[in-house]
Amino acid sequence: MELLKSPFLNDPSSLVAMAFSVIYPDKEFEAVLVDKITAEDGTQMVGCTTFPDDGSLPLVEVAGHIPAEAVPEILAHELAHIATPGDEHGPRWKEAFERIYSKYNELAIARFQDQDQDPQEATP
Ligand SMILES: [Zn+2]
Repeated sequence: MELLKSPFLNDPSSLVAMAFSVIYPDKEFEAVLVDKITAEDGTQMVGCTTFPDDGSLPLVEVAGHIPAEAVPEILAHELAHIATPGDEHGPRWKEAFERIYSKYNELAIARFQDQDQDPQEATP
């Protein structure tokens, strides 16, 4: 499916995906917002990553009902699973999550550090 372009100048999910692709340029995935994610034991989850048996791209699902400000961390969490298949929440996963999330923060700061500046003081 064709990837949608975000209409937002400051879409945090796009920044997380950008951070991921900077660190893991060869890793591909698809991501979708879904209504709800239910684990096999019936627990509701906010994010889930699956690696299809048919060799198609890994799929990240994020629950659409969670607050927008929670999405970047959930997405970074799931993308760390894409980076470290089979590690569950082990040391490689933890390191990948921290790399993705800190790169995301770095990109966000670089992009928005001047946001609070008075527009009249900004030099063109
Ligand atoms: Zn997880």
